[in-house]
Amino acid sequence: MLPYGRQSIDESDIDAVAAVLRSDWLTTGPALWAFEQDIARIAGVADPAVGVTSGTAALHTAYAGLGVGPGDEVITTPLTFFATATMAMWQGARVVFADVCEDTGNLDPVAVKDAMTSRTAVVAGVDFAGHPIDAAPLADVAHSGGALLLEDAAHSIAGSLDGIPVGSLADVTTFSFFPTKNLTTAEGGALVSTNAEILERARHFKGIGYTRDEAKLLSEPDGPWYYEVHGLGVNYRLPDVLAALGSNQLLRVAAFKARRQEIHQRYNEGLAGIDVLRLPATRAGADPMWHLYPLRIVDGRRRELFDHLRANGIGVQVNYIPVHHQQIFAELGWRRGQFPVAETYSAQEISLPMFPGLADADVDRVIDLVREFVGA
Ligand SMILES: *Cc1c(COP(=O)(O)O)cnc(C)c1O
Repeated sequence: MLPYGRQSIDESDIDAVAAVLRSDWLTTGPALWAFEQDIARIAGVADPAVGVTSGTAALHTAYAGLGVGPGDEVITTPLTFFATATMAMWQGARVVFADVCEDTGNLDPVAVKDAMTSRTAVVAGVDFAGHPIDAAPLADVAHSGGALLLEDAAHSIAGSLDGIPVGSLADVTTFSFFPTKNLTTAEGGALVSTNAEILERARHFKGIGYTRDEAKLLSEPDGPWYYEVHGLGVNYRLPDVLAALGSNQLLRVAAFKARRQEIHQRYNEGLAGIDVLRLPATRAGADPMWHLYPLRIVDGRRRELFDHLRANGIGVQVNYIPVHHQQIFAELGWRRGQFPVAETYSAQEISLPMFPGLADADVDRVIDLVREFVGA
């Protein structure tokens, strides 16, 4: 079965990991610090990233860093992996959904504006399939209501909008390094921010809640072993073994991006001009790192096309089941039909195989199977 996504591991990745295994530091050492600098560089931010154990952990840590708590509302998209929403709930926030734009599947600034209240603390957009969010209008809407903008960039590291790298578009940006994503550490994630206070709270949170910085200690240390605990934290520390893999992957990220863009273009050309298909849009100014190729079929035969491709060895996927349809949100009163653009997008969507190691011949086979199915 041809997968829809897959990691690209080479001998240099294996060597980078082996070198850490032979060193003194398996975790919280120099490979992690280097990776945190590398992520900051690609994200275009001055302060090092906060490396964590997954994209889910990055979201949880970001909400904690943003100071989200009980009584706060977080506005997000139904067209995402559910952790974008549920990690805000761990911090005690109420999740509020807003609909998406028809062309990109990204959070619609007009819908967000309608959903804003005096309790809105964070607007959390997702770079669906790798296409950057409508950052400027979303930041305007959020900031004018006293909220901050979080960008879940699990799909889009190394992308940019109007020349600004993903990572510098929002107040906080989170990444995932799961194997299907654009670069991998096996499991891993990170967040970046342009706000030093948010970063400090995030670092404290993911590091169990230690305070060792002398400037912040409340009492005089009685020895070099001394530390204080000022708040709750969790252990989301990213091991050096994995960080080294991430730094080595970053050396090839431009090549990964170029190949993903080539595959995207090949699908676009091979599937153009077919009336029952909608191809993913690219907005002016966007230079996406394509994580997915989200094809839509509008004649109601998504299930049949999905089965046809799977039966022919093509490991297609659906991204995503609308988050508000999940039981946990149904119990909170969210109903089917509330977000028609996202729900229609979701009902028509099939993610075609997209990863740097995918051969042109495989892309062409997928195109031929889709064309044959729709009778084109
Ligand atoms: C993958 C993903 C996550 C979670 O990342 P993990 O590393 O799998 O925990 C969060 N948000 C989105 C949009 C994702 O695609």
